[in-house]
Amino acid sequence: MKNYGIDIWGENNFKIDKGMIKVNYKSSPSLLEITQKIRKTNLSGPLILRFPHLIEKQIGLLYSNFQRAISENEYTGEFRAVFPLKVNQFPEAVDAVVEHGEQFGYGLEAGSKAELALAMEKTPLGSPITVNGFKDEEMVRLGFIAAQMGHDITITIEGIGELEWIIDVAQQCNLKVPNIGIRIRLQSEGSGIWAKSSGLSAKFGLTSTELIEAMNMLQEHNMAQHFTMIHFHVGSQMQDISTLKRVLREAGNIYAELKKMGADNLNAINIGGGLAVEYSQHTANRLRNYTLEEFSNSVVFLLREIMNAKGVAHPNIFTESGRFVVASHSVLITPVLELFSHDYQEKSLKLKEQNPPLIEELRELNSLLSPRTCIEYMHDALDHMESLLTLFNLGHIDLLDRSNAEILVHQIIKKSLYLSQDNLMPEIERLQVKLQERYLINSSIFQSIPDYWGLQQQFPIMPLDRLDVPAIRAASLWDITCDSDGEIRFKPETPLYLHDIDLDEEEYFLAFFNVGAYQETLGMNHNLFTHPSECTIMINDNGYEIENFTESDNILNILEDIGYDSSKLLTNLKNKLVASDFSTEEEKTDTLQKLEMYLYQNGYLRTTR
Ligand SMILES: *Cc1c(COP(=O)(O)O)cnc(C)c1O
Repeated sequence: MKNYGIDIWGENNFKIDKGMIKVNYKSSPSLLEITQKIRKTNLSGPLILRFPHLIEKQIGLLYSNFQRAISENEYTGEFRAVFPLKVNQFPEAVDAVVEHGEQFGYGLEAGSKAELALAMEKTPLGSPITVNGFKDEEMVRLGFIAAQMGHDITITIEGIGELEWIIDVAQQCNLKVPNIGIRIRLQSEGSGIWAKSSGLSAKFGLTSTELIEAMNMLQEHNMAQHFTMIHFHVGSQMQDISTLKRVLREAGNIYAELKKMGADNLNAINIGGGLAVEYSQHTANRLRNYTLEEFSNSVVFLLREIMNAKGVAHPNIFTESGRFVVASHSVLITPVLELFSHDYQEKSLKLKEQNPPLIEELRELNSLLSPRTCIEYMHDALDHMESLLTLFNLGHIDLLDRSNAEILVHQIIKKSLYLSQDNLMPEIERLQVKLQERYLINSSIFQSIPDYWGLQQQFPIMPLDRLDVPAIRAASLWDITCDSDGEIRFKPETPLYLHDIDLDEEEYFLAFFNVGAYQETLGMNHNLFTHPSECTIMINDNGYEIENFTESDNILNILEDIGYDSSKLLTNLKNKLVASDFSTEEEKTDTLQKLEMYLYQNGYLRTTR
């Protein structure tokens, strides 16, 4: 893996320069300088950096690619798009989406009442709103209210029952009627780990029989003119373009059939989301086999072919891509707190006057290591270690001997890996991975990258600096939750190499990229670690501004949020302390102050004093 695979996942959003990872935009600040500037405010814990210019870039790419495909294919329908709020509802992300989308008429998609309320407030009139997911009558009514406000809103029904509500509400009131979309249930299966959204057993959508029934109901109640869109969604992170093609053929033909059945105002196919993001750091392990260019060409070309063959006008094309639009805009920065084997330093050796012979041999191996001998000596050392452990278990050597043996063997392995760097044999690579150094990171995997925990999804990871120094420690990452699932391990085929650092002397930060989609509201407060501190970075030609800094919740607020009375809690804690014996009044005041201060700080570990 060269440069942490930045050429694979990076999309030129970042670049490596003078050993540092920098934002590849205007003044190109390094992530390290941004991080250090923010941490000067005595901040601890993980940090989310948002880059709205990357949202702007993705929206521009989405529209320009589809517009190009439309003109190249002489397609007569329009391209329209909405951002699905479930992918990131945080204000800084949504505001950037709305601001940069306005010139294109980019709208919002809502899947719940709360999201719909947000969409109604944020979407400019004239840009579309779509509503998906299961609904109740109230939610349907909210759709009428949005239409009344003047919004271009389409309520997509997931079942016949929802259509009945729409008809009922339309009969009960004189509010404007929203557009009606119908989610179709496709036979073609999606692909990838998210593919539960299509196929016969899908959670959503109307079968062909139900579609015919819906058409009849609409016509009976004189509402067919409101039916404007069909919708499907194959599931997120579609890996293979062939899935899209299969599904589009089916959906395109359903569209054309409905037109022929008299759905005169039907004018749009909404192809949902699914446009994938590359998260892989390894060439052999790529997560998608297409580009946006191919994706847009395929959609436009296929729909044109189907409609031309059936003599139907080209429909408008809607997309609801979410992951593609916001994944890249945020980067999670986590300080490294500890390297687990860091204590195995030569200076910690406590050799005796008289050491067991095997330990003397280890000392000798350690002192004689050279590029030529290191592999052989490392084998010897591993062999000795095994014998020494047996001796310990039989009671022949003591704990001090065992500690010395562990330190010496670690030294020999570490030095051998250094010395054999230029001549990496498969065996060394395997060993390196097997002996993964555990890096403790000051964040929670459950909170910040829940899809790693839930779906084993990888994210690109790299250190912020030292990128001009070879990284030779195969790493695994441990988070600070006390859960054994809070670990990121790397397979032998896809290792992560990090630097050997002395954290007493220097700081080391890891960045997780493409974390802007889904992770934030899926994240859970396991061990009561809450949403990281975050800020928005506005980069200009001469530098950058840090905006909307929000620190991770303090401990009392976290407890208040799950139902405790935080002021009572603080008072009780203080009273307990006051009731104890202090040797001086000064110490008592000081301890009370400290207690209070700690509880008003965020819940992550502090690396700075
Ligand atoms: C989740 C979802 C999307 C977004 O999918 P991405 O893969 O993030 O683009 C779009 N439409 C519907 C109906 C969804 O449920």
